[in-house]
Amino acid sequence: MAPRSVKVAVIGAGVSGLIAAKELQEQGHTVVIFEKNNRVGGTWVYDPKTDSDPLSIEPTREIIHSSLYQSLRTNLPRQVMGFLDYPFGKRESGDPRSFPGHEEVVRFLEDFAGEFGIYGLTRFETEVVKVERKGKGKGKEWEVESRLTRGSESVSREVFEAVVVCSGHFVEPKLGVVPGIENWRRFQMHSHNYRVPHSFKDQVVILIGLGPSSFDISRDIAHVAKELHVATKPNPLLKDINFQTVANISFHSLIEYVHEDGLVTFEDGFSTYADAIIHCTGYKYHIPFLETNGIVTIEDNRVGPLYKHVFPPSLAPCLSFIGLTYRETIFNVIELQAKWVARVLSGKILLPTEEEMTESVKKLYQFIEENALPKRHTHSLRPFQADYKQWLVAEIGLPPLEDWRDDMWMECFKNFSEMKEMYRDEWDDNYWDSIIQSGSSFEEE
Ligand code: FAD
Repeated sequence: MAPRSVKVAVIGAGVSGLIAAKELQEQGHTVVIFEKNNRVGGTWVYDPKTDSDPLSIEPTREIIHSSLYQSLRTNLPRQVMGFLDYPFGKRESGDPRSFPGHEEVVRFLEDFAGEFGIYGLTRFETEVVKVERKGKGKGKEWEVESRLTRGSESVSREVFEAVVVCSGHFVEPKLGVVPGIENWRRFQMHSHNYRVPHSFKDQVVILIGLGPSSFDISRDIAHVAKELHVATKPNPLLKDINFQTVANISFHSLIEYVHEDGLVTFEDGFSTYADAIIHCTGYKYHIPFLETNGIVTIEDNRVGPLYKHVFPPSLAPCLSFIGLTYRETIFNVIELQAKWVARVLSGKILLPTEEEMTESVKKLYQFIEENALPKRHTHSLRPFQADYKQWLVAEIGLPPLEDWRDDMWMECFKNFSEMKEMYRDEWDDNYWDSIIQSGSSFEEE
């Protein structure tokens, strides 16, 4: 059977949208990318502006897409932040570090877009406001409604045979429950809106949460703040941490109560008057433009039902999602998902029946429930990352991925868990180069 060629709308020109467009184009599909920003790169495009509401809860606020802070460097080495077909190498007069700054990543993505003709496919400053299926049954078309972000208020409508959602999921902040926070009269913000430390000079600052953002932001701020206190779940590893560059960070249990006069008490008995609270509590999946009559829902950070985190069984293959998964070498996973989607749309790879896909989703949910895993981590690939990636490569017909990719991720995760402040600069490039060249995993040695 001749490969099928379809007209596809890709929503977003971040990592997911760029690689999706490349793969779709290579499979002979007609691609239109809708991108509300004026550049490619998505999250990696640093914006000194922030949401108009520092907590990002006001529904009518001006929303800034990127959550990057000025000092951000990648938390994974560049070898696992490129694509199988287009590595993230060092450039002349670029940032040569193994864990480069964000500008280097966005330049890499711009080079990628230039190399594969993505600019010509992209409608910049065009926000998708609604995606809706026309008619009933499988194989129906999708109407994409968009509007220019500047100038004209008018809405355009265009019909596509398939839609690939690549709109990212680090934009809509999630806030934890903090007893008494409604009484807080001093400054508070979500890490989505953190850019630079200056405004915290000489202040007592409290950070809630201990993820990758908190790890970086705590030290960024500690350099100028008087004291920095991190509120986190009990973690024995934190007891003996001594940072190399800052001495004014301390770790505590969760917050017990926040008082109107600025006093914050912690469950471990510690208390302090503070000037500011920063919520480093993660993000919510949010796809406001998607209208599927309740077929695809978002509940407690689970977008579903999705077969292998990509295709909703009853709408496949015409609707798909790329880049929802996390806790992985994300660029690699996104690339594999994109290759899979492009080949499924062209008919080169067949999906199982709707019933079989639904059954597979049910099994995942059942596993999550039986192992008391939080529903909100449905799209975390750990501990199935190797199986997931190898399943994708087998499906696409590629050779298995090298073990060193996962090993690098594990090593970074270990460094991060042990709060090794300088792990990026202490990374042993020679060691890892030799591992990559020999093509073996250090666990096998
Ligand atoms: P995004 O990069 O968010 O791109 C989505 C795009 O869709 C954006 O350009 C947006 O403007 C566009 N868009 C959204 N809605 C619409 C709409 N309605 N209409 C039109 N366009 C729309 N990963 C790593 O591998 N290494 C790291 O070191 C790393 N550090 C990170 C640090 C931070 C602070 C954050 C938030 C994430 C980090 N990540 C890291 C994960 C990162 O998100 C992924 O690497 C990757 O960039 C995700 O790409 P994406 O294309 O899926 O989403």
